[in-house]
Amino acid sequence: MLSAYWCDHALLEDGPVAGVRILVDDGRITAVERGATLAPGDSRLPGVVLPGLANAHSHAFHRALRGRTHDRGGTFWTWRERMYAVAARLDPDSYLALARATYAEMALAGVTCVGEFHYLHHPAGGGRYADPNAMSAALVQAASEAGIRLTLLDTCYLAGGLDGTGHLPLDDVQRRFSDGDADAWAARFAAQQESPGVRIGAAIHSVRAVPADQLPTVVRAAAGRPLHVHLSEQPAENDACRACYGSTPTRLLDKVGALGPSTTAVHAVHVTDEDVALLGSTGTSVCACPSTEADLADGVGPFRRLRDAGSPLCLGSDQHVMTDLIGEARLLEGGERLTSGERGRFSPAELQAALTTDGHRSLGWSDAGSLAPGRRADLVAVALDSPRTAGCAPGQVLMAASAADVHTVIVDGRVVVSEGRHVLGDVGRLLADAIEPLWEDR
Ligand SMILES: [Zn+2]
Repeated sequence: MLSAYWCDHALLEDGPVAGVRILVDDGRITAVERGATLAPGDSRLPGVVLPGLANAHSHAFHRALRGRTHDRGGTFWTWRERMYAVAARLDPDSYLALARATYAEMALAGVTCVGEFHYLHHPAGGGRYADPNAMSAALVQAASEAGIRLTLLDTCYLAGGLDGTGHLPLDDVQRRFSDGDADAWAARFAAQQESPGVRIGAAIHSVRAVPADQLPTVVRAAAGRPLHVHLSEQPAENDACRACYGSTPTRLLDKVGALGPSTTAVHAVHVTDEDVALLGSTGTSVCACPSTEADLADGVGPFRRLRDAGSPLCLGSDQHVMTDLIGEARLLEGGERLTSGERGRFSPAELQAALTTDGHRSLGWSDAGSLAPGRRADLVAVALDSPRTAGCAPGQVLMAASAADVHTVIVDGRVVVSEGRHVLGDVGRLLADAIEPLWEDR
């Protein structure tokens, strides 16, 4: 069905343009007319229209932790204890409810595609569901009902950690993350089917959770698909990897052929100069998750240097301490300013590329992320008349707006959010209904 959208302003590939008419047919953009006037039958999109945003790194179940982990004296590792407590309570039904609400909140923030770094594979305590991919199926259904595309990054997770002596056994909670070995992971991974809104990619949880001799199997299974990996989020990972393997996590991944243009390293906060050069020269993408990295006291990654070395950047809300990808972009630039003492480290156009084209490409959707003929019809309209955005130049909206200013979201030609309301209704209620039972009796 043909639709026409008339935008007050649109962020096109060459910058902001006023008066843009975008024609959409069968989920694709068929024409972009500049200097157009509003025609009868056009749907008007006030404010400024962006391409769909890609949330390149998500753990849907971490949404249940928001506002629940902030105690004095906490660390990454005390946060992880809370996270494991929630993980232990989820089954396919409760995970469907939580992920559907979490993805609906993302849609409200302008996210049209999410990369779900998924390791909650098996029943609590271990064993298998009747369908060994039942938890994946819950995520696929959740994204479909929330109206966004999904790249399911099926994660290999085999060990309980790494210290100077080697890998540690899985604890009681971690047992449900593991397939036993990389071959068994690869067999379950291979059984998953793609569908029009769903891509299947692979992930290595981290060098902490996958021993080096298992890594090549994952790399082989991922061939031709997106491959994501948590990398050097905390200094302890580097210390253990050096003690055990005599190399940084980045160098270890490079040795087994895990780096390259279809790979995305998530965090890359504590990387050496050599690591930066390796990531850049292999064209490995880097996914910054600035709100999470701040919340977990990870540190600030050298993202400008990584970009200059050749790594495309993308952004993720990761543990969802906030679901605001525009805010993540602003924090990316803010972190650079705080560590460099300079402003304008990333231009608005570079921040837009991280949120859109490069994010989608990291997730395997190279036909999404820009407002151009032939591309997927993902349109995100942001108000320019809210208390936050009033008076700002359309081309600098990413440095002023928040998720609350997104009023219309169209994914593959389908209107998912209109006048700030999601097609599923009250997303706050959906979130509360999914999260509160997970904390009962705790
Ligand atoms: Zn993560």
